[in-house]
Amino acid sequence: MTLPDMHRAEPIPDAARDEIERLLQTGDLFRYTAASDAPVSLLEAEFAQMMGSRYALAVSSCSAALFLSLLALGLPKNARVLIPGFTFAAVPSSVVHANYIPVLCEVGDNYRIDIKDFKAKLPTVDAVIISHMRGHTSDMDAIMTLCDAAGIPVIEDAAHSLGTLWHGKKIGKIGKIGCFSFQSYKMINAGEGGIMITDDADLIARAIIMSGAYEHNWKKHPGIAEACTRWQNKLPLYNLRLNNLSAALVRPQLSELPRRVADGLRNHDYVAAKLNTSRYIDVPAPLAPETRAPDSIQFNMVGLEDDAIRAFASASAAAGVKVQVFGQSTDNARAFWNWQFIEDLPELPQTRRMLRSACDVRLPVHLTQGDLDAVVDVILGAVHAATDAQAA
Ligand SMILES: *Cc1c(COP(=O)(O)O)cnc(C)c1O
Repeated sequence: MTLPDMHRAEPIPDAARDEIERLLQTGDLFRYTAASDAPVSLLEAEFAQMMGSRYALAVSSCSAALFLSLLALGLPKNARVLIPGFTFAAVPSSVVHANYIPVLCEVGDNYRIDIKDFKAKLPTVDAVIISHMRGHTSDMDAIMTLCDAAGIPVIEDAAHSLGTLWHGKKIGKIGKIGCFSFQSYKMINAGEGGIMITDDADLIARAIIMSGAYEHNWKKHPGIAEACTRWQNKLPLYNLRLNNLSAALVRPQLSELPRRVADGLRNHDYVAAKLNTSRYIDVPAPLAPETRAPDSIQFNMVGLEDDAIRAFASASAAAGVKVQVFGQSTDNARAFWNWQFIEDLPELPQTRRMLRSACDVRLPVHLTQGDLDAVVDVILGAVHAATDAQAA
């Protein structure tokens, strides 16, 4: 069986071509040049409508969206922000960038926030960022109940979770603000880019101005004149805008999303069932209210020593399927002990234990069943090789 290219993205829909040609002809790349209907503005309107949210602001990355979300909340100086101990380094970085203090919360074997630790640390923080890491949704019922009772705002980092549902409701719509990424490894690919959504006029007005809507450029954002007038000249400008070319790449992909989500979930569940036949592999189940939108699969190695886990990853890579073991690869950006830019970096024993054996394999949504079978064969073969070596 031949292995698929696990890093190849889907082609950008043809519909992007005419618009990009027009932009190249006119040179109209800055979002605030056209009097109306700039591609970035159209993207914001379409994304907000798709998500059923009142406002959307497209920016240069999801990291920028997280940074602006934190600043838009207007937290006190030295505010403490609770984040998961398992997420991408961009998340603690956005907190540090905003001059706030990241507080790390333990994460369980199923890659979701440990609610007991969350509850214990919540009284010490001013805001919360929930990363739905690799699309794994933490218990948003428990989290929202606790945060609403404490009056603590929740930002959803849904960078890698576009299309995921919780009780049938769109992820990114549950907290006060939802942030998404258009980086190439996420569900929608513009190379780079991000977007934030909220129903709160003051939050979006503050974010719009700080994203770089200098002078009266905010007038090109519909329905927020009153709030923007209130914040005029009161906020710094960070220039984190998206450009029209990126928006032109994103817009024709929005209608592809339902198919990508359905294919990704089908492929994920197909591979999960096959991997779960091995007693050395556990693919954690989704939480009951969750409908996932995966473009990768995560699983834990069960009953294997570090050496065997590393031998497994090497054997799989040698046979053509790259397995990232979050806690075993050098300088991994999702291993909290590598976030050494955080002062007084805490130890999280439970999260460390999980990361030691948690594996990650990309499953681009366009893979065929034949591709998936080939990937599964390599992984299971590598498990056999590693477990035979451990037994010997
Ligand atoms: C990719 C990712 C980010 C960062 O997104 P960028 O658009 O690259 O800044 C943040 N959080 C998570 C969970 C991600 O997967």
